[in-house]
Amino acid sequence: MKYNIAVIPGDGIGPEIIREAKKVLDTVGKKYGHQFCYTEVLMGGVSIDATGVPLTEEALETAKKSDSVLLGAVGGHVGQSNWYSLPPNQRPEAGLLQLRKGLELFANLRPALLFEELKAACPLRDEIIREGFDFVVVRELTGGLYFGERKTYEENGLRKAYDTLAYDEEEIRRIAKWGFEIARKRKKKVCSVDKANVIDTSRLWRQVVKEVSADYPDVELSDMLVDNCAMQLVKNPGQFDVILTENMFGDILSDEASMVTGSIGMLSSASLGNSKLGLYEPSHGSAPDIAGQNKANPIATILSAAMMLRYSFDLEEEAAAVETAVQKVLKKEYRTVDILSEGKKLVGTDKMGDLIAEEIR
Ligand code: ATP
Ligand code: MG
Repeated sequence: MKYNIAVIPGDGIGPEIIREAKKVLDTVGKKYGHQFCYTEVLMGGVSIDATGVPLTEEALETAKKSDSVLLGAVGGHVGQSNWYSLPPNQRPEAGLLQLRKGLELFANLRPALLFEELKAACPLRDEIIREGFDFVVVRELTGGLYFGERKTYEENGLRKAYDTLAYDEEEIRRIAKWGFEIARKRKKKVCSVDKANVIDTSRLWRQVVKEVSADYPDVELSDMLVDNCAMQLVKNPGQFDVILTENMFGDILSDEASMVTGSIGMLSSASLGNSKLGLYEPSHGSAPDIAGQNKANPIATILSAAMMLRYSFDLEEEAAAVETAVQKVLKKEYRTVDILSEGKKLVGTDKMGDLIAEEIR
């Protein structure tokens, strides 16, 4: 099969890590008989420099016409770049928000996985580390508190502000479906997280998720209050497979989840919508401090490409081959500088990509 991928290298280390992800995809293509065609798209600071805006209409159209989008990272040093003297909606990061909105991506997936070979960096208790964990946070991305009506005002000499949190059942239903679909490709467990003992949107959330679960009898559903979930992520993360939650809870829990793994530079992410077209990118930023030095760890981007194979193209075996290759390379003690520890071998960005591609071959 032929797949058209819009590739957005972006800023900072973006072009370096994207190069390695393409190297790995090409190797997968050769081995399994797929053709991956890339169209490069400008976004972020490089787009501002070339066109004056962080994402042009034309760039968005190219992304929309593709089968999927692979992104490096956008943005630079806030203090050292003239991009940040622009109004917020014209800065590099605004391009990413416009892209997500333009592609109607309402589901954000962030896997949190304890890499066998990097367990030393995990801040949790020894018995948790021994047992390991591997779960994914599925966060609603386009509704809730961040998109509600808000106001700051003054009344009777008092400064006041409010934000409204609203969801309709359709918004809940479509994200819940993604949660169950993803669980089906994993350990078949969904934990829906809310605050149903206090707020109405959470009560609706809980009801609708339960209704959706009727279509997924093979997936086990449980509910958990968000405060308890925050605690359980530290106490017993091994219990989770898919954590399904609304926008703000997901924002907070997915950051907590990536910290407990101890290896943010290794974690992938995906944003999905109603079609197969998704946006895949590493969880980390553009790391301008190490850009252009062949130091960046390309693994988060390579694992994001694996997610693309799985969720956009339904190429499960190929996705698993990439993940296994990453694990094999880590077993062989090769490390980029961010995950280097005593007795391990230091390699650069390009060499790490070569090693992973070599394992797939
Ligand atoms: P954000 O872009 O999320 O707002 P940020 O710019 O502070 O935040 P990053 O760009 O992710 O975050 O960089 C944070 C630190 O992690 C930097 O020191 C950077 O060099 C390092 N880092 C980030 N990604 C990688 C990577 N892939 N390989 C090596 N180091 C990385
Ligand atoms: Mg950044």
